[in-house]
Formats: sequence, C-alpha cells, structure tokens
Amino acid sequence: MPEPVISKQTLYRARYVLPIISSLVEDGAVLVESGLIRAVGYYRDLAETHPEAVLVDFGESVLLPPMVNAHAHLELTAFSDWAAAAGEPLAPQNFVDWILWLVRIRMDVGEDQLKASLEAGLKASLLAGTGAVGDIFTSLNAVEAYLESPLYGQVFAEVLGHDLDLIEARLLSIKSLTVKPPAKNLGWGLSPHATYTLSASATDLVFAFAKEFALRCTIHLAESEPESQFLRDGTGAIADKLFSTAKWDPLLSQPPGCSPVRSLCSEGRLKEGDLIVHGVHVNPADVAMLKQRGCSVALCPRSNAALNVGKAPVTDYLNAGIPLALGTDSLASSDSLSLWDELAFAVEWFAETAEPRDWLEIATLGGAKALGIEKRMGQLAPGQEASFQVVTLPSLPQVDALEETLCASGNDVNVTHLYLAGENVLL
Ligand SMILES: [Zn+2]
Repeated sequence: MPEPVISKQTLYRARYVLPIISSLVEDGAVLVESGLIRAVGYYRDLAETHPEAVLVDFGESVLLPPMVNAHAHLELTAFSDWAAAAGEPLAPQNFVDWILWLVRIRMDVGEDQLKASLEAGLKASLLAGTGAVGDIFTSLNAVEAYLESPLYGQVFAEVLGHDLDLIEARLLSIKSLTVKPPAKNLGWGLSPHATYTLSASATDLVFAFAKEFALRCTIHLAESEPESQFLRDGTGAIADKLFSTAKWDPLLSQPPGCSPVRSLCSEGRLKEGDLIVHGVHVNPADVAMLKQRGCSVALCPRSNAALNVGKAPVTDYLNAGIPLALGTDSLASSDSLSLWDELAFAVEWFAETAEPRDWLEIATLGGAKALGIEKRMGQLAPGQEASFQVVTLPSLPQVDALEETLCASGNDVNVTHLYLAGENVLL
C-alpha cells in the first residue's frame, strides 16, 4: 500500500497582513499549501480551522504582496562606477545632456561588465522586496544573467535607430532569442526605445514585429518637453544635439506634427497591454487615447525629478481609469532600485493625488497588471501563488496609520523575507 500523500499546510502569521485586494488585517495570517494561498484572514480563525498547519510567526511585521518594479534597466546597476571611471561622475540635470552623458559612458562598457551589473541589479531587486520586474536590456549576450533569477515579470529587448537594415537584423536576433524564456518566471517583451530614437518606418517595423510575435511593448513616451517639441516641428535640443551626435539627419524623420502619444496611436502601433513609461507631457486627448488603446502607464517620479522633466498628471490618469504602476528607472537617473524608496518619493511628490492605500496598490498589484501577471502576483487571495514580502519598520504604528506609515517609510522599510510561489528566495 503506498503511503497516503499528506499535503503540508503552513500558516504565516504577522501583526499586519495587507492583502491589497481586501482590507488590512491586524493579527492576520495566510494559509499556504503547495505554493498556493488557501486562505487569508485573522490568525485566530485560521489557527482554529487548520490546527494541523505548521506555524511560521513573523511577529511585529507586515506581510504584503511583493513590490513590482514595472520599469528598470538593471544592466545599468553599476552605472555610477562606470561614470566615475570615465571621469564624469555627475549626471547633467537636463534631459538631452543626460542622454548624451549616458550614451558616452555606456559606449565604453564591455559585455562582461554589463552582465555582472545586471546580476547585481537582479539581486538588489530581491533584497528590496521586489518580486517582479519590467526590465529593459540592450545586450543580447548578457541575457543569461536572468536565467537563474526567481523574479517574475518581463524583460524587454530594446530597439532603436534609424537604419532599417540594422533594425531588421536586430529583430531577427531577438526572434532567435525568444525560442526559450529568459527564466522560469520571466517572459520576453520588446522595447522600442522612444519616438525620437526611431524613425517613423522603424517604429512601424518594431510594432509590427511585436504584434506578429505577440510581444508586449514598453516605450519611453512623453517624457520631456524636448521630445514634444521635436515631434511637433522637428526642432530643439533633440535635433540640435542628439541627432548631430548620433549622426542622424533630422530630415530623415519628418516630424508628425502632433503629441508623442498621438504619434503612436495610429493603426499598427500601440496595442492593448502595452506599457507607457513616464507619460509626463500629455494632454487630456492623449490620456483619452491611452485609455482607448488599453495601455498602462509606469510612473518614474525620482527619475523625472532628477532630469527636471516635470510631473505626470496622476489625477488625470486615475480619473480616466488608466492602470498605473511604479518604476525606478535605471541607476543612471535614480538613487536605488528599491520600489519602497520610489513609493515614498511618489507619495510626497504627487501629494494628495491618491490615498496611501491606492499608492500601495499601484506599487504591487498595479505593476503586476501592467506586466500581465496579476493572476500570479500582486494580491493575497485564495488561489493565488503564495508570493509575499515580510517587512519591519523601526516601530509599527496603530492599524489606522499603517498604510500611510508604510508609504512614507522608504529606506526605513526592512525587508526580512520574500516568498515567491511559497519559496523564501532571500535564504
Ligand atoms: Zn527608462
């Protein structure tokens, strides 16, 4: 007679359980079996109904879904070291000079350095309680760094340029890469870099490729005033500085004469599920078009503040029902890869635009939705994979103040555990 299989249940208890999808529970618990959440509720109730479950008590902690960093460039994690080595440690504080600074420094970085930098970024993300990323990469040779990572989400291959032959060759290389996933829980996506770094025909080519192979796209869009000016009439710092440095002729790309968002809303470009990054310089008609296209927006407030490009209209996005997420962007324009830091900055910078509870949802479930993984991560509910982080604060407040305190804590948040599908990945 074979032994009967006894499924082992574990009850994870914490002073506060924040399911995101439902109300905060004081002295809460999550019942987990075979990597899946079976129940979420008060500890006393679940302990009574499941006396056989193994108890893991996190004590004076908060248990909540992992952070989702919807926009990062983890291969640039070592960027400040490279900038210092190049003798250019200080980032310019205006947009076009910053791009030129980044390109100059990045040009001298080898494939091995990029791979090591990407590995460091993946590790730093986990340590910060991030369970999923929307990560953009440029080096096709460094992607094996993802292979052993337990992170969820999508990695987007960046494409830019004006030479259609080179872009076609790049897309073919990406196509051969996508025959197997980058890692167990990661999928491929495509990142046309921006409206001003791809010609109109290159943009069409990249979006058509994404549609043919059902790849989600993410694009830096409506990030700065120089971008809006360039699309409007082909003038400004992008034409004068960026195009001359890159040896692109602005005449090759006739300006569409409209806003960045409108330029991507023509047939065959943005599709449902695509993820807009930044979305700072948008008007009400742009917001309505993004809603109609079914796109999400990843806000990167620390990066926007560092480059002095302005603030995204969070209230307009929320009123329009556009799904929002948060991203750290790269360490070339941001101080850390911690979404807790990004959240604390966002809440202060976008003051009064949303409740603390909404911001916590944007940082977790919002990001999961933006990456299309909300059935696997972002909420604590029966049937979901058991993915959650456990954090402590210097002192935990009373229940009424918990969400506000969590939002404001940033660097004071100490991530003690990160479970992905029932496995503690910080061991
Ligand atoms: Zn970016």
